[in-house]
Amino acid sequence: MRRLLPILLFLAAAANAQVRPEGMRAHVRFLADDALEGRGTGTRGFQIAAKYVSAQLEAMGIRSSQQTVPFRATGIIPDRSSVTLTHDDGSTVSLKFGDGFVNSGDILRQDATVEAPVVFVGYGITAPDRQYDDYANVDAHGKIVAFFSDAPASFPSDLRAHYSSSYEKAKNAAQHGAVGTILCITPTDEARAPWSRRVRQSKLGSMYWLEKDGTPHGARPELVAGVTLSQSGLAALFQGAATSLDDVFKSVAAGAPKSMPLPAKAKLQIASRHANVQSANVVGLLTGSDPKLMGEYVVYSAHLDHLGISEPVDGDRINNGALDNASGIAAMLEIARAFSELPKPPRRSIIFLAVTGEEKGLRGADYFANNPTVPAGSIVADINIDEILMFHPVHDVTPIGAEHSTLEAVVQKVARDQHVEISPDPYPEEVVFVRSDQYPFVKVGIPAVYVGAGYRPVEKDRNILEDTMQWIKNIYHTPKDDMSQPIDWSVGAQVANFDFGIGLEVANADARPTWKKGDFFGDTFGTK
Ligand SMILES: [Zn+2]
Repeated sequence: MRRLLPILLFLAAAANAQVRPEGMRAHVRFLADDALEGRGTGTRGFQIAAKYVSAQLEAMGIRSSQQTVPFRATGIIPDRSSVTLTHDDGSTVSLKFGDGFVNSGDILRQDATVEAPVVFVGYGITAPDRQYDDYANVDAHGKIVAFFSDAPASFPSDLRAHYSSSYEKAKNAAQHGAVGTILCITPTDEARAPWSRRVRQSKLGSMYWLEKDGTPHGARPELVAGVTLSQSGLAALFQGAATSLDDVFKSVAAGAPKSMPLPAKAKLQIASRHANVQSANVVGLLTGSDPKLMGEYVVYSAHLDHLGISEPVDGDRINNGALDNASGIAAMLEIARAFSELPKPPRRSIIFLAVTGEEKGLRGADYFANNPTVPAGSIVADINIDEILMFHPVHDVTPIGAEHSTLEAVVQKVARDQHVEISPDPYPEEVVFVRSDQYPFVKVGIPAVYVGAGYRPVEKDRNILEDTMQWIKNIYHTPKDDMSQPIDWSVGAQVANFDFGIGLEVANADARPTWKKGDFFGDTFGTK
């Protein structure tokens, strides 16, 4: 008996180490409280949230530190900004901020002005690996290029996401000699992301992290801040075009827009405010137990920031961000606790990373990926947690990005162990692979996975996909994402336990994850 007891205790502890739904609820209740004022990057509410995460980690015996990120913030000055379209027939249309266009400020120039003919370039994508080039038959040199969001639906989901990223589109525009950009949105895009939300959000401005020499990382001096046009702005832009706007929408829906010069010149005039802002990533560290592998790290990432205070919606100005992304931080804290309760730490070390600046364009994660607090090359995987939509029990999870690396086999094993099903990305058009914090890790060559709750309902007749589309349309990025929602915490715990299982497998495996041979992301960004 004496010799059995420690073994029994060991087994009991290992089996008990798991995420508790009520633990997640408690963390979200605090982080999404009005007192934290929506956790905007650089605000006091965010700082309090960061202190909370540090304190929780410390209570579990996990060391934590803050990585300060230097930012430049920019915001548009609407009444000194305009978009003027002059058509070949001499007629002129002036678009106003909020009605005809939006922009969240130019990061490089406080007074940015550019005037040039406009060329329509489809999606604005050049993808040699897909034999696809929107710039093939047009000359964009010295022009302002107009393109739609997204990428052809025929591209595989994560590749579609990659080519959809605004960073890739701006890079491609600059490489083709463009001097400015205009983002176009289809009526279908607008049905998912209402114009009023774009206006509200663009008023919150944007931020870039600063290189040591003070330049905003990733900014393109060749391009003047891109504007996004409303449906009325688009109608004005395509006036007199060789293809009517309706036909252009149809060609975009069919995945085959035709590039063409537009019979118009555009003058983009953007006046912006600049400020320097600091905000911190919280870095928790659980040291591994294998002397040979403890110098390698599995990263869990989740963004702690949200939109902060905005213009009101139904009288409410505080964007609580309960699901986006207090839910992910809560899951990560519960995963950290589960790790801390294991009888012995895993072989590799674990980093619990609560990042800032996600809502400004994945900036905090990008800063960490480019300025890691551990030696470059020692991070073996990123498991990102964002926006766990948990309203009704489901049989499945959606592990986005796993198929590009050996993480796919890990995910399959965890699914078998936990009796959870795996489903493919249900919304390729939402391009989630590039829209959360796993992407900066992928871009420095680190295999990553982002697990979402699935959509196969336990209760018959429930349409989770339809519920989710309604949530994206009506609740996402509004003050309504708060604790008044009918949240089912057991669904969140299912996702978090899945993430816990992945991390445990990766941290204890003999070999670190590798990109699959010939994988686009491995070939493009991987080093090994
Ligand atoms: Zn968000």
